[in-house]
Formats: sequence, structure tokens, C-alpha cells
Amino acid sequence: MENQSAGRLVLVIFPLQGHTTPMLQLGNVLHSKGFAITIAHTRFNPPNPSNHPHFSFLLLPDTLPYSETSATPSIYDVGNINRDCHAPLQEFLELQKQTADSDQVVGIIYDALMYFAATVADHIKIPRLVLMTSSASFDQTFVTIPRLLAQGSFPFEDSKLHDPVPQLNPLRFKDLPVPKENMVETLQFLDTASKLKSFSAIILNTIDCLEESSLFQLQEHYKVPVFRIGPLSKLAPALSTSFIKEETSCIAWLNDQAAKSVLYVSRGSLAVSDEKELAETFWGLANSGQPFLWVVRPGSVSGSEWTEVLPRDFKEIIGERGLIVKWAPQKEILAHSAVGGFWSHCGWNSTMESLSEGVPMICSPQFLDQKVTARYLTYVWEVGLELDDVLDRQNIERSIRRLMTGREGNEMRQRAIKLKQMINVSILKGGSSFNSLNDLTEFILTENL
Ligand code: UDP
Repeated sequence: MENQSAGRLVLVIFPLQGHTTPMLQLGNVLHSKGFAITIAHTRFNPPNPSNHPHFSFLLLPDTLPYSETSATPSIYDVGNINRDCHAPLQEFLELQKQTADSDQVVGIIYDALMYFAATVADHIKIPRLVLMTSSASFDQTFVTIPRLLAQGSFPFEDSKLHDPVPQLNPLRFKDLPVPKENMVETLQFLDTASKLKSFSAIILNTIDCLEESSLFQLQEHYKVPVFRIGPLSKLAPALSTSFIKEETSCIAWLNDQAAKSVLYVSRGSLAVSDEKELAETFWGLANSGQPFLWVVRPGSVSGSEWTEVLPRDFKEIIGERGLIVKWAPQKEILAHSAVGGFWSHCGWNSTMESLSEGVPMICSPQFLDQKVTARYLTYVWEVGLELDDVLDRQNIERSIRRLMTGREGNEMRQRAIKLKQMINVSILKGGSSFNSLNDLTEFILTENL
């Protein structure tokens, strides 16, 4: 491990892909600023230490009964993880207090879902910074929903789905991240989590030029510094943070495709579909005539292990024009010159990775922050088109043609390229993310004086 002089930061990660990746990236960025880094993680979905030889790792032994194959802690699990991990983190920090001055812990940065860490940091009397792994616009909805509840404007009736949400322009009620099916549980969970929220500062993987208004409102609400350090995927070195092995052979296939011709299709690490949706997606892709690289995550199709539901001769049907993989090196793919579009579930990491490479999107969000982000992609930044709620082959084929070969798609691509240029400027010396990172470093150091 390198000898760092700025002190040690403990980063507490939540064991989902979309949460672990930005935290590890942030760890790398802060390591380059002189901090030693300890990654505190659960037993489930641990990061691979060999990909991060410059970090120390601390196991927080949660007692959840999940198996190797169950990849999704639910909102009920979040409470248990927070309960289980409290004592081991506190013990570690108390021991660490007795070590040499140069290795003192100067702050805890915790995932917003690991809110127990704020209580531990308070106890030890060190700064506690929260990393919110979604967009500022999504976090703003959790500030506003309780207000709507208090005013009696929430929950809303179905007839209001397309109405604008007061104080959350441009979101419609249908874009809100609280699912009707388990609205009560989600609201209860948010209530508990928000009571425990007490942080010295907020860190977001975003950029001023994308979310200025939401960032301003978050700052007004929480009254603590809000550091916007995105895109972390660009600021951090390109190290693998995937839980699943990446099929890197698809890069050779991409190398043989024409510039901007390939549609990359992935629904991230959590979204699931049924067998009918998988079959319709296949036929939509096949009938579009467009080259495609499609990630079908094992276990993501209910009732199937992988692609059994596809026609037996599916490889002959698509020939060399399409490739299906289990997990892909997504950042490399989006940066590849052959990729001209991304059909995505609009997870925040995927969105930032796509925007950073100037790749326009087809948006089919499933839940939580994905719907908020899809609204921004389609309506605010105008670099994405919304796929109809009905996932049938005709709709899919039509949307692919609109994005990949239509005038509308071309205009979105031009706008996406402009955004990419603005994003590139933000991480250069003097840019907003560059400055915010320096401010964050300064903040941690001065909080410890
Ligand atoms: N990802 C990947 N390979 C894949 C699919 C996804 O490396 O085949 C990565 C992607 O680059 C992103 C993360 O998995 O960093 C998914 O996070 P996101 O927030 O987009 O969605 P989530 O999985 O949380 O729904």
C-alpha cells in the first residue's frame, strides 16, 4: 500500500453494482489526492481486492440469509444491513484511533443507504460525508415527496399520471420513484432513512451543467456543502468494478462494425424482464436491420436461466449482425467508435457513462431513479427517446430506426456530442467537477484541523 499523507478515509459501500462502482471510483479519485483508503463492505457482493491493490478492505459481517445467486437486497434488507454493520465499523474506528497520526481516519464517506455510518462517525467525532449514487434530480424528489404528502397531493390518482408534479418541474407523477405496488413500505423506509440522515456534506456523481437547478435546491434544503464530482467514470482510472466477469471478446466484434452503426443494449444489474419481453426484444432487434450488442444478464429473465426462450436458430437468424453476451465491458463499449446508440434502463451510472461518450439513448426505465433520469434524458437534455410502455417488436423496431437512422436520432446525436464536450470541459483544470473535487479535498482537510 502506498504511503499517503492526507490521512485515511473509510468508504462504506452498499452491495449493489450501481452503488459499489461509483464508491470505488471515488476512492480512486481521492487516493490520487493523497488519502489512504479503506473500503468497508458487506459479506455479500464484496469488491475484488486484487483490482484495487492500493486500498485496504474491511469486512462488515452482515447476517443476511442471502445466497451467492441472490443479487438484490430489498428495502427490508437495508435496515438489517445497517443494524449488522454498526458494531464492526465502530470497533474498527476505535482501534484505528490508537494508530500512528499519519494513519488516523479523517472522515467517513458512506453510501446513502448505509446511513448507520453517520451515527458511528458522530460517535467517533469525525466528518461524515454521504455519497448519493443517483442524480441530484432523483434526490430532490425525496425532499419534495414528504412535502406533497403533507399537502395531501400524494399519493395521486391514476388520472393524474401525466400531470406535472408541483415543485418538481419537469417531472410528471408517472416519473416519481415511489412504486404504487409498495408505496407504503417505500414511504416508511424513506421516513426512517431520512430521520437518520445527518451529514457534514453531500457528494454526487453529477455535473453542474446537467443538473444546476436540482443541485441548487438540494443545497438550499440540506444546508451543507454539495460536491458535484462527475463523471466519476471519467475521473477515475479504468479499473474493473464488475461483480460479473466481463466478456471482453465483444470488442473484437465491435472493431469489425461500421462507425456509429451498433446499438448497445443493456438493462444494468437489477432490472428484470419476462420471457415474452425477451422474445419481443429479440424480434425487434432482429427486424430492425441494425447491428446490435445485447447484454442479457443471467437470471434477469424470470422463468429462464438465460436465453432459452429465444428461437433455437437465433444465431442463424441474426448471423454476424448481432451479438448476445452475459456481461460486457460497458464503459469501453460506449467509448467505441462503432457504437451509435444505447438502449438502456437509464440507471444513473449507465446514463453518465453514455453522456460522457456522446451516445444518444433509447430509454426504457423500470423503477426508482430510472424514470426520473429517463424524463431528463428525453425532455430536458433531449438526447434520448422514450420507448412506449408496451414492449412489443413493432415499437422496438420503430424506436431503433428512429434513433439509429432517422433525422430525429441524428439531431439527438449532435446534442449528445455537445454535452460530451461540456462534460469534458468540466473535468479539465478550472472546470466545475475539477474545482469541486479540489473543494472536497480541502473540506476534508479543514474539517480535521
Ligand atoms: N455494466 C457493465 N456491464 C454490463 C452492464 C452494466 O459493466 O454488461 C455496468 C455499467 O457500466 C454501470 C453499472 O454496471 O456502471 C450499472 O449501474 P447503473 O446505475 O447504470 O444501473 P443499475 O445496475 O444500478 O440498475
